[in-house]
Amino acid sequence: MIQKNTILSKLGYLQYRPLQEEAIDALCAGTDVLLAAPTGGGKSLVYQSAGLIRDGVGVIISPLIALMAQQVESLKDKGVNAHFLNSNLQPDEHDDLVWALRNNHIDLLFLSPEKLMQPSVMSFLNSLSISLFAVDEAHCITQWGSSFRPEYSQLGQLRQNFPDVPIIALTGTVDGSTVKAIQASLKMQHALVLKSSFDRKNIEIQIAQKRKSKRQILYFLHHEMAGESGIIYCRSRKKTEQLASWLTQLGLPSLPYHAAMNDRARQENHQRFSTQPGLIMVATTAYGMGIDIAHIRFVIHVDLPDSPEAYFQEIGRAGRDGKPSKALLLYGLQDMLNAQRFNGLQDQLDDDRKERLSAFLQVLEGRGCRRKNLLKHFDESAQDCGNCDRCLAPSAEQNSTIASQKLLSLIYHTRGIQPFSVLIQLLLGKRTKGVSAIQGERLSLFGKGKELNEAQWKAVVRHLIAFDYIEVHQMPVFCVHLKEKARGILRSQAQILLPQERYYPLLGSEEDLN
Ligand code: ADP
Ligand code: ZN
Repeated sequence: MIQKNTILSKLGYLQYRPLQEEAIDALCAGTDVLLAAPTGGGKSLVYQSAGLIRDGVGVIISPLIALMAQQVESLKDKGVNAHFLNSNLQPDEHDDLVWALRNNHIDLLFLSPEKLMQPSVMSFLNSLSISLFAVDEAHCITQWGSSFRPEYSQLGQLRQNFPDVPIIALTGTVDGSTVKAIQASLKMQHALVLKSSFDRKNIEIQIAQKRKSKRQILYFLHHEMAGESGIIYCRSRKKTEQLASWLTQLGLPSLPYHAAMNDRARQENHQRFSTQPGLIMVATTAYGMGIDIAHIRFVIHVDLPDSPEAYFQEIGRAGRDGKPSKALLLYGLQDMLNAQRFNGLQDQLDDDRKERLSAFLQVLEGRGCRRKNLLKHFDESAQDCGNCDRCLAPSAEQNSTIASQKLLSLIYHTRGIQPFSVLIQLLLGKRTKGVSAIQGERLSLFGKGKELNEAQWKAVVRHLIAFDYIEVHQMPVFCVHLKEKARGILRSQAQILLPQERYYPLLGSEEDLN
């Protein structure tokens, strides 16, 4: 083994961070490690160092081809013998690499899971002396399951094929279920699990109700982040293109990014966004993994992410330089219902995804500090942060127990088959088509909910969904079930307190924006 400090200075650093050191020591002692730290948390230095300290070649498996290439180049600049094994190598380059590996001339070898799982590659590695395996972006094992990149879920073979080689799994997510799934999938038995804090204090978190989202975005871009670079995340590919061209027309230069664009266009947009200041990237979640751009000042979500993990990872692309940055999430009842519908379609992954979405809805609908609620999901305890919409402008809470009782009994009396919009109109005493169609005027609750306006009623519905008083099924037909918890409310055994609805302001007028 080589001295830790020799490697540290070779890689260009003065000292290890405490968590890095712990992970490196464990690997050097032959122990498996699971390291969960946010992007930018310094994970690469861990496997680079341990791979160099231990004898043999360190093998790094990553799904991100572009980033591997970049890392190899920067390691070479530091005098490390790093190589990237991929299918683009010319035959002679490939032969040279094989020769160098056989003769112990290579320190670190990077490859994709697909390459690694090729039988010829696996058996070749078996003939070498290996210092460690590093599985980067290990949460992909659970996120992609066995369909998208099946090789990721086959990496458990490493433990069998190389019983004496330590494995380190690295991930940007920390929730308990992901960590367990990674350990199980990689067959790590006595792994040391290390987690670093996921908090990004410099990002101001704002979560607000959506209302004419385009105009809300304009307000944000003009009044909070004029001229800055940022990402706007949308769910649909079409929406990224429409929004990008609409913003550009309004003098806010924007670029789209999604998985259906060709490689060149995507690469070009990424390149422009990362080099020119003041651009806005309007993207699906395809734009994400491994982006490390220091000057991103904001992240806007116009659609709901699927989970607290996804949300945290996405907002974490802002403020990498540590300077004040902002995250704005806009959503409403319809977004909640859409997200649930989308989830209901994916049968296999159903339970896990449902759980994550429901955890996220509770974060969104929960009372008090946003950051505290989020970190609680990651098992981190925190104080009120002073840097979220709730901390910055504390709002009153309302006792909504009676309103909830009205809504729940109305759901019961209409057998759960009426859309929320009809129920709300009915409570407001409006004789709309939908209300008349079910002779809603005759129900005793008709017009008995005028103490709240439509938006406030929607907030009640959201709260009842998020906290499991009701369950909405959308397949094969729309249907709402009252859950056990609803009884407590109907019997006045429990109370419901709702934070006051908060809208994000609008900019511009209706005409120029539609
Ligand atoms: P991750 O892989 O977790 O996303 P990186 O390994 O890319 O994070 O590191 C993020 C940044 O932190 C890099 O710019 C890296 O140079 C820096 N860094 C990592 N470890 C140290 C350290 N011990 N001292 C100083 N800077 C570090
Ligand atoms: Zn807060």
